Amino acid sequence: MNFLIDNALSPRVAAGLRAAGHDVIALTLPGLESVDADRSSVTLSDHADAMADAERSNLVLGNSRTLLEQVNAALQRLDDGTYGFCQRCGKPIGERRLEALPYALYDLECQEIVERETTL
Ligand SMILES: [Zn+2]
Repeated sequence: MNFLIDNALSPRVAAGLRAAGHDVIALTLPGLESVDADRSSVTLSDHADAMADAERSNLVLGNSRTLLEQVNAALQRLDDGTYGFCQRCGKPIGERRLEALPYALYDLECQEIVERETTL
């Protein structure tokens, strides 16, 4: 099993995964700061704008949190030695797919099936 993982996982993919984590944190931190700024600068006349900003910030934070969870889960799989394998069928995920989407849970085939199932 480990033999397969070592073969499937290129250092470039591992680096890409860790970089994705850093990107998420870089995206999330300004979002957090803007939420704090909103709180300290809210006046009654700015209230509507502030609410819109806060909603936007929450959306950004929500997306970042989801992405960060996916990246963290992938890093966990990297530690577990299950990284790079489809979570549905267990087949190795293609290296090109992992380079494009380092935290991919499924191979392309299963991704399509899962997407079809969730949109139905
Ligand atoms: Zn699969």
